[in-house]
Amino acid sequence: MRLQYGRYQGRTAETLLLRAPDYAVWVMRHQPEGRLAQYFRDLITAFDARPINQPCQACGAAATRAAALPDRSDLYFFCDDCALYPNAAPEGAAQNLRTLADFVSHVERTARRRPVARLRAFVRRMAQAKGLPRRITEPAAEAFFAGEIM
Ligand SMILES: [Zn+2]
Repeated sequence: MRLQYGRYQGRTAETLLLRAPDYAVWVMRHQPEGRLAQYFRDLITAFDARPINQPCQACGAAATRAAALPDRSDLYFFCDDCALYPNAAPEGAAQNLRTLADFVSHVERTARRRPVARLRAFVRRMAQAKGLPRRITEPAAEAFFAGEIM
């Protein structure tokens, strides 16, 4: 879907969700009944449904979730049985990042500096872990949401 007006006129919703997820969040909050918000929600459902294409870094099984340290944008991938901090995670760390909404709430709870950049980095890294090529072109973004690239 190509945007017909506004700040991102001419861009596709698919590339925007991957490159500027903060904009998708804004649209869903401010124009929740709009066609674009509904489209973003459908894309997010597809995003969340894609499996993580990475091994658990502790045991090598298929990873199912990501962990992040406080104020850092790196992601660490684990299965449900392993964790970055098996006992108690430090304040601001997240161990159970599975969905795009998880990243939004993690950033809103913890990012004191540059929350937009951090959300963008997280979504990009999660998308790459789910098979998105490093270069986010329009065809790559479309194929990613259509489930055509694994
Ligand atoms: Zn594991």
